[in-house]
Amino acid sequence: MRLTAPRLVLLVVLLMETSYLLMTLKKMQILEEECSYLQENAEFGISKGEKRRGEPTIYVVTPTYKRMTQIADMTRLSQTLMHVSNMHWIVVEDAETTSEVVHELIERTGLPYTHLAAAKPPDTKESKWMGRGVFNRREALRWLREEKAEGILYFADDDNSYDVRIFEQMRATQKVSVWPVGMILGLGISSPIVRNGKIEAFHDGFQWGRKFSVDMAGFAVNLRLLHINPDATIPTRVSYLEDGFLKKLRIDLKDLEPLADGCTQVLVWHTKTRSPATPDLKHVEAQYVDTNLYQLYRNMLR
Ligand code: UDP
Ligand code: MN
Repeated sequence: MRLTAPRLVLLVVLLMETSYLLMTLKKMQILEEECSYLQENAEFGISKGEKRRGEPTIYVVTPTYKRMTQIADMTRLSQTLMHVSNMHWIVVEDAETTSEVVHELIERTGLPYTHLAAAKPPDTKESKWMGRGVFNRREALRWLREEKAEGILYFADDDNSYDVRIFEQMRATQKVSVWPVGMILGLGISSPIVRNGKIEAFHDGFQWGRKFSVDMAGFAVNLRLLHINPDATIPTRVSYLEDGFLKKLRIDLKDLEPLADGCTQVLVWHTKTRSPATPDLKHVEAQYVDTNLYQLYRNMLR
């Protein structure tokens, strides 16, 4: 068959139409995938660490340690984090090795995570000057530096209560963002004092030589600051962990970015879970050892 001019035109048109059709089909496939993902998550109302293009990742660092209230606290925190998109959870156990119970709990969330362990040195255990969760938070900082992670760093203790709105707000942190924390010892609240959009001091029951009187749950840091200040770390002295860390980031009060509606809202609470009685298998009466109770106790005491 000869390729005359009209035939050539026809062929080109046909080829163009075919490629257009293929492109449309591909687009439809992507849309369908996105829709089914949204639908699936809408049922649960959760985002399970959903990736949204162009959004900075929030690295949530949680130091945790074994105790009777740990799983209750960690369950509450993990299910809060399931509502946060573009989030990477770094859980660091204060222990020689990671535990199976915590690992299973994190796995169940479906969130992107890193599970580490870093025990406090044994000789520091009795010291009343030693801050809590120091060495495991340091391990998270080491990991973030090693990974050259970019995004936002937030220290979320396992026992606090978090309104998911604070995560969306902290995502825009340029250097260090700050906001009030409720239920803090002393005044019942700890908050930056904001005038004309700038932070000029702190309203906190414990000042004592602190430049930054903030709670661990009351600030987020752009990871760039961690990388350009390689010696920034969590100091060991109790009550000075936040202040010591922020000072090492070489920032000024004027660099702080107030969130939570200009620090007028409480979106994070320093809740504490009361220690219950410790379940003990010897409380199970002899006639019930062949019931569910035996397994229930074993599961609780894992
Ligand atoms: N933590 C830890 N090891 C300890 C004590 C505490 O890893 O020996 C963790 C704990 O799980 C929490 C954070 O450090 O995430 C702060 O501890 P806690 O809530 O007991 O102290 P708070 O600041 O509320 O007094
Ligand atoms: Mn706490």
